[in-house]
Amino acid sequence: MPAGTPIRRTKIVATLGPAWERAEQMHAFFDAGVNIVRVNASHGTPEIRGEWIRRIQAVRAERGGPTGILVDLRGPRIRVGTLAAPLTLTPGQHVIFAPEETAQDGEIPNTYPELAGDVVPGSRILMDDGLLAVDVTSVRGDRVEGRVRYGGLLKSNKGMNLPGVDVSAPAVTDHDREEVARAVALGVEYLGVSFVRRPEDMEGLRAIIPKSIRLVAKIEKDTAVNNLNGILEASDAVMVARGDLGVELPFEQVPLVQKRIILRANRHGKPVITATQMLESMIQNPRPTRAEASDVANAIIDGTDAVMLSGETAVGSYGLEAVLAMDRIAREVEAQRLRPPEGERRRWSLPAPHVARTEEGTTPIEDAISVAVSAASDLLEAALIVCFTSSGFTARTVASYRPRVPILALTAEPETYHQLGMVWGVVPAMMPHLKNYDPMWQAAREEILRRGLAREGARVVVTCGVPFDVPGTTNLLKVETV
Ligand code: PGA
Ligand code: MN
Repeated sequence: MPAGTPIRRTKIVATLGPAWERAEQMHAFFDAGVNIVRVNASHGTPEIRGEWIRRIQAVRAERGGPTGILVDLRGPRIRVGTLAAPLTLTPGQHVIFAPEETAQDGEIPNTYPELAGDVVPGSRILMDDGLLAVDVTSVRGDRVEGRVRYGGLLKSNKGMNLPGVDVSAPAVTDHDREEVARAVALGVEYLGVSFVRRPEDMEGLRAIIPKSIRLVAKIEKDTAVNNLNGILEASDAVMVARGDLGVELPFEQVPLVQKRIILRANRHGKPVITATQMLESMIQNPRPTRAEASDVANAIIDGTDAVMLSGETAVGSYGLEAVLAMDRIAREVEAQRLRPPEGERRRWSLPAPHVARTEEGTTPIEDAISVAVSAASDLLEAALIVCFTSSGFTARTVASYRPRVPILALTAEPETYHQLGMVWGVVPAMMPHLKNYDPMWQAAREEILRRGLAREGARVVVTCGVPFDVPGTTNLLKVETV
């Protein structure tokens, strides 16, 4: 980043793929502004994914920057089985779905043994991202019969969605468990949990991973939208997974559901990623469409922490341009929206309207402190907020109030350092394990001056939890002069 360029608050998640699997390509993508690397466990082999993760870790160690790795689990996705040859489906055609083990020639094999138990006449089965649709006409034993509504060419292994059907598949599949074991052994920071329905879906996974790994609940089913608060409580971050969400729900509902998920996530102080088709046309083109540029901008205005690229970076011809496009859109929106109109200063400095409440109706201490930190930094025209954090909790809570100045988050924990790369407005930094406030502030001051985040004599607002070794306490606010 050239000197003097403001810090981008919105974070960029980029999906790894053949388009940037070499170390020098990874360097170029990080230079362009990637904050979090997503490894999609639905593609490739465990060997390739393992090799990629080790390479990312080597590149980030060389660069020293905060770069969290998110392994996105496949989850209970239902898929078409292996077809001898692609099948042409024509509207009105009669088709039969069968379990893949027993499917005959001409039937559509699928990977979900309970399909016949979960659908009824009238249910709709969607395939290939909703492009192909079949209306169920009858269920006979383990066979599901239907009539093609929207036709096209059906290929092997395409995804299937059953909108409105409460699929009875387990939340964490055997495939996921194996992937989790490998991801834990490799030491990644985040796991993406696909097709979450209920908070309990997160708890099963939580039991088999170390505490330092964070879980991202992917909101991509209507049941998840209905259970949003509980899921937010049970997870560390959420994703507005618009790919499947836009097939599971009528697509016209996605824009408002996106806003609702982002708002709730902000209220819970949990980071939220807005994902899928953000710059889809850039898979082929060097420039985004106007609609795509608006989509990225609007997600940021909605309050998303991060915006995500999938196929654009994994397999696209213009992955690097896509990252640069997101970076430019984010900076433009932030430059315009972070400056309140003159004369509105007092109103702007009032506590954010979304201050969290406990069950009893009081505001948790960390929220009260975070609101005060945000307001103080505003009223004092502070250059920066500094927070000392071990689990990242303080930094996430402060960030959820979207203060106007960057939040320098100092931590002694490498996992936290990399994880905080996902959080809006946070600039993660490593510092040694220190026990007392004074040496901590000295370490922060050195970091501020070394990075040019504030000039000598500038005021900064400092926050942390005392005692330092108890995560989840945020109770101190102090104004320092650099
Ligand atoms: P996927 O998840 O790309 O793993 O399906 C994201 C989405 O559905 O939007
Ligand atoms: Mn999905």
